Amino acid sequence: MKIDITKLLRPNIRNLAPYLSARDEFSGTEGVFLDANENPNGSYNRYPDPHQSQLKEVVASIKSVATENLFLGNGSDEVIDLIFRMFANPGKDKVIICPPTYGMYEVSANINDIEIVNIPLLPDFQLDKQAILQTIEQDADVKLIFICSPNNPTGNLIEGIEEIIEKFQGIVVVDEAYIDFSPASTKVQLIDTYPNLIVLQTLSKAWGLAGIRVGFAFAQTEIIALLNKIKAPYNISTPNQQQALLKLSNLDEFEAERKELLAERDRLEAELLSLPMVQKIYPSQANFLLVEVADANHVYNELVRRKVIIRNRNSVIKNCIRITVGTIQENNILLTELKDISQ
Ligand code: PMP
Repeated sequence: MKIDITKLLRPNIRNLAPYLSARDEFSGTEGVFLDANENPNGSYNRYPDPHQSQLKEVVASIKSVATENLFLGNGSDEVIDLIFRMFANPGKDKVIICPPTYGMYEVSANINDIEIVNIPLLPDFQLDKQAILQTIEQDADVKLIFICSPNNPTGNLIEGIEEIIEKFQGIVVVDEAYIDFSPASTKVQLIDTYPNLIVLQTLSKAWGLAGIRVGFAFAQTEIIALLNKIKAPYNISTPNQQQALLKLSNLDEFEAERKELLAERDRLEAELLSLPMVQKIYPSQANFLLVEVADANHVYNELVRRKVIIRNRNSVIKNCIRITVGTIQENNILLTELKDISQ
């Protein structure tokens, strides 16, 4: 597949001379360092590794990609914004978003003054492929498409993504924040075939590290090099790189936690289905359940009153609430309160 990525770039990014940090000019670790205006005292007095080399090696190995195909962001939210800044011309270009989906695509588009073309998911929460293909054929200003799989807040995997990537001359971003709960369905290996594909993943969900803000982008080397060119030089702090390395060194713990969460998701689903207020639970490939109840506002407000906080999605999908799978104890508290509300 032939796509000239350079042509898709915003002209200012195409011509950008990136900032060269002191650590770019000299990357050795031995010596007397008087080059970066750091304070010589303290334990976090030095700037972090701007290339996150050690962390990248470990992530690349776990995800079976080359380090040149991996970018690390300050959460995947940073990468979403960088993608807009890299490819979409403010006030001119457009992005396709398929609601109901993750809210940051819309916010990032608005921050960057990019027009949104909303192509809602069909009633089964799959892509309206016909409408997407028609739009990209007719509107050359559409530069980006965001697809979230498994989708937030619906929980399902999205089908037919490859056909969109194949037929689109712009960039397709596949956000796989929840893919570790359904790892066989990842699109990461498709980056070898498609120069216009960017896959996003994160340490915030199955890895349990939302607090340290580390997200991944997988793509061909040209896009990864460009992301590195425009990111803030020290976008991931030293303690955050250290905490990520620590967690990634214990794959057994990760597996055990993931297994327990998936078992709890299934238990929660079964228990919720026995409640009279629950009308429907959408099948989930993630760590949350989208649940249709008789009166979402009532259930949400009653749970808040009892200090159990879920997400009310009534404004997005009528009478739906989104429940994140918690620990066994937390899920038991939720179930007890819901049973009480039912009565
Ligand atoms: N993508 C999706 C689909 C999400 O649900 C979230 C967080 N709720 C993010 C990205 C953001 O992830 P991160 O913590 O890596 O910025």
